[in-house]
Amino acid sequence: MKLPAINYASPSSMEEACDLLSTDEDSKIIAGGQSLLPVMAMRLAQPSVLIDLAKIPGLDAIEESGNYMRLGPMATHTSILSSPVISKNLPLMSAAGKYIAHRQIRNRGTLGGSLAHGDAAGEWPLVLLALDGLVEVQSVRGKRTIEADDLFVGPYMTSLAADEIITDVWIPFRPRAWGYGEFARRAGDYGLANIAVVLPTEDTGTSGARITVGGSVGKIQRVTAAEDVLNGSEVSPELAKQAAEAGASELSYISDMHGSAEFRRGLVQELLRRTIVEAGERI
Ligand SMILES: Cc1cc2nc3c(=O)[nH]c(=O)nc-3n(C[C@H](O)[C@H](O)[C@H](O)COP(=O)(O)OP(=O)(O)OC[C@H]3O[C@@H](n4cnc5c(N)ncnc54)[C@H](O)[C@@H]3O)c2cc1C
Repeated sequence: MKLPAINYASPSSMEEACDLLSTDEDSKIIAGGQSLLPVMAMRLAQPSVLIDLAKIPGLDAIEESGNYMRLGPMATHTSILSSPVISKNLPLMSAAGKYIAHRQIRNRGTLGGSLAHGDAAGEWPLVLLALDGLVEVQSVRGKRTIEADDLFVGPYMTSLAADEIITDVWIPFRPRAWGYGEFARRAGDYGLANIAVVLPTEDTGTSGARITVGGSVGKIQRVTAAEDVLNGSEVSPELAKQAAEAGASELSYISDMHGSAEFRRGLVQELLRRTIVEAGERI
C-alpha cells in the first residue's frame, strides 16, 4: 500500500523537536523509518506530522565515556556493527546485531528507533536489557533517565511518554562473559527465539547473571529463574541444563503462524542451554 499524505518537519535542535512533538499529540518522531513507514503503509499508524531527527547534530555518536559506551539514538545498525570500540567493549552487541534484518535495513535503521519501537523480537532491546544499559530521554518537561529494566513494558510498548525523545543510550562495559543465541527460519528474518546471556567473570564474583529472551515471548524480558540457578555457582554443562529448564518453565509463550507456544518453549529451552554454555566458556 502507498503511504498516506504526510506533513514533515526537520528540526535542527532537540529543543525544537521536543516543542514540535508536544504541540501536536498525533505527531511522531521518524529516525530510519524502517519500522514506522511499514506501519504507516499498513494504516496501523497515521501520524499528522513526521518529525525527522536527521538534521540534529551529534545524534549518531558512538564513543567511550568513563566506564560506559555512549551511543546517540541515530547511530545506525551498520555504524554500530562496524565500530571498533563497540566490538572491543561490547562484543555481545556486535554478535547480536549481525542478526538484524538485511544490509539495506541495517544502513537506515537506528538504535533509538529500535529501542523506542519496543519489538519483542528486536536485537537491540534484548542487548540493552542484558547489559544493564539505560536511556536518557528529553521532552518539553525536561530530561530523565530510564533503566533498561523499566523500559520494555509490553508488545511494542515502552515506558517512554508520547512526547519523549531518546537522546542518549548508555551501556556499561566491564569484564563480563557473554553468549548470544538466535533461531530464525531464514537469514535476516526476525528471530523466533533470541537469547542473550551475561555472566560475571572470575574477577567479579559469581553473582549478577543477566539473561534476556525475545522473539518467543510478548515482550523483551529477563529470565530470572535461570539467573537464580546460575548465581552463586560455577557454570557447568549440568547447571546450564538446570537453568535452561527453570528459565523455560518461567515464561509464557506466544503462538502464531511461525510456531506454536509448545514449539517455542522447546526452542527457548535449548537455546538457553547452549547460550549459557557459550557464555560459561568465556569466564
Ligand atoms: C523487512 C524488515 C526486517 C527487519 N528485521 C529486523 C530484525 O531482524 N531485527 C530488528 O531488531 N529489527 C528489524 N527490523 C526493524 C529495523 O531494525 C528498524 O530499523 C528498527 O526497528 C527501527 O529503527 P528506525 O530507525 O527505522 O525507526 P523508525 O521506523 O523511524 O521509528 C520506529 C519507532 O520509534 C520511534 N522513534 C524513533 N527514534 C526515536 C527516538 N530517538 N526517540 C523516541 N522515539 C523514537 C518512532 O516514532 C517510531 O514509533 C526490520 C525491518 C524491516 C522493514
